[in-house]
Amino acid sequence: MSRYDNLINGQWTAADSYSPNTNPSDLSDVIGEYAQGGASDVQAAVAAATAAFPAWSTSGIQARSDALDKIGTEILARKAELGELLAREEGKTLPEAIGEVGRAGQIFKFFAGECLRLSGETVPSVRPGIGVEITREPIGVVGLITPWNFPIAIPAWKIAPALAFGNCVVLKPADLVPGSAWALADIIHRSGIPAGVFNLVMGPGRVIGEALVNHADVAAISFTGSTGVGRGIAAACVASGKKVQLEMGGKNPQIVLDDADLNQAVELSAQSGFYSTGQRCTASSRLIVTDKIYPAFIEALQARMAQIKVGDARAAGTDMGPVVSQAQLEQDLSYVEIAKAEGARLAAGGARVACHTGSGKQGYYMAPTLFVDTEAGMRINREEVFGPVASVIRVKDYEEALAMANDTPFGLSAGIATTSLKHATHFKRHSQAGMVMVNLPTAGVDYHVPFGGRKGSSYGPREQGRYAQEFYTTVKTAYTLA
Ligand code: NDP
Repeated sequence: MSRYDNLINGQWTAADSYSPNTNPSDLSDVIGEYAQGGASDVQAAVAAATAAFPAWSTSGIQARSDALDKIGTEILARKAELGELLAREEGKTLPEAIGEVGRAGQIFKFFAGECLRLSGETVPSVRPGIGVEITREPIGVVGLITPWNFPIAIPAWKIAPALAFGNCVVLKPADLVPGSAWALADIIHRSGIPAGVFNLVMGPGRVIGEALVNHADVAAISFTGSTGVGRGIAAACVASGKKVQLEMGGKNPQIVLDDADLNQAVELSAQSGFYSTGQRCTASSRLIVTDKIYPAFIEALQARMAQIKVGDARAAGTDMGPVVSQAQLEQDLSYVEIAKAEGARLAAGGARVACHTGSGKQGYYMAPTLFVDTEAGMRINREEVFGPVASVIRVKDYEEALAMANDTPFGLSAGIATTSLKHATHFKRHSQAGMVMVNLPTAGVDYHVPFGGRKGSSYGPREQGRYAQEFYTTVKTAYTLA
């Protein structure tokens, strides 16, 4: 069994203990044993990053751009192999996993360009004879804490801008899926960046994550994960004066209006509700459907769901892989019981299933699940399940649909299926979400534009695209007497 160490100060560093990384499609398959670091590893990684910062932050943009470009090139060249690893450890299908790796590669390429484009401003002073320059500078050592559902793309979209703008990094990936993060760390390490600029510390969130958040020499924390953990991190960061950025949960609405193209509405609802096993923060879990189209939509969606083949993430023909873990499966199934107890009607799925290939492999397979006749106040419509579970709310018209869509503590992504330009335009303006989709699934976004939400979904500056510089730099205003 291969063992994978932490990367601290440019050295692969053994930990006191290791934990198995298990394939959720086949519980007899252990991918490897990954380091379980401790608080002392965080101390060493932050010390290395702090020592590396003065040289890296002034190293010049060409060196940083070249390093990021090299990393992106290797990721893209190896996307089939890295996608295989990702599918094996996280359970999304091979095409989804390869797509995610491709996205990670493109993100590094994008930020290789972004570090060349960082600019400032020169403005006149209100006082004659004085010049004013506004520039952006790196912030220092940043701690990056990432979730299990995008094991390479989310680390990539935090690491690439952090390094591009001259910061040093300590990454703490999700404990469930350390394999993709380790592979990415290996690529970054071999790109030739100086020791200490990038460090990887694997291990439990309550140990590694908390040690990072509480470390006095960490200037900023970027976190993606659950709302509960995020709120605690924000409070700790505010208390110690750290910059903080949170991307958290969602309960994303997908509106389907009477005038929608039925096939298109069904397809995009199925895609964003159930693909990636519904384990996307941008998944549609509330389908808000107007009266006239409701019966036809439900019938067509049930028929479409019946075609979804659930099974081994890497098997040919699989549309939906397993749930990521036993704990997540238990959570998903518990929401099935909660919804039934609240009076929602189960229209599809709701239970574990066997792998569609008939291989007999034991995995965390669950059928795509649909509830109908649900009410806005039910827990199934208020709380994030984070599995292949969607519920349908029937409404009379667009106005009620919009009010229902916005009636949530979250605000990440929101979609509308309609052929009405008037309603599409109104929805883009009045949806209380950070990302709005017209006739597109709520999940599935570009890598070169801002990503993030409102209300309980996000906190702090946006991630990705040009907007990433807001978090990963600090502004300086310099005055010069001419
Ligand atoms: P968690 O919040 O459980 O974990 C996220 C990360 O935080 C993990 O690395 C975890 O470590 C770490 N962590 C756990 N406890 C602490 C702590 N006390 N202090 C510091 N770090 C800690 O989320 P999941 O990994 O379960 O991811 C699923 C969640 O992520 C969903 O709610 C989903 O909506 C959200 N998400 C949001 C996205 C967005 O951009 N809005 C994108 C993707 C997911 P460990 O793994 O060791 O527990």
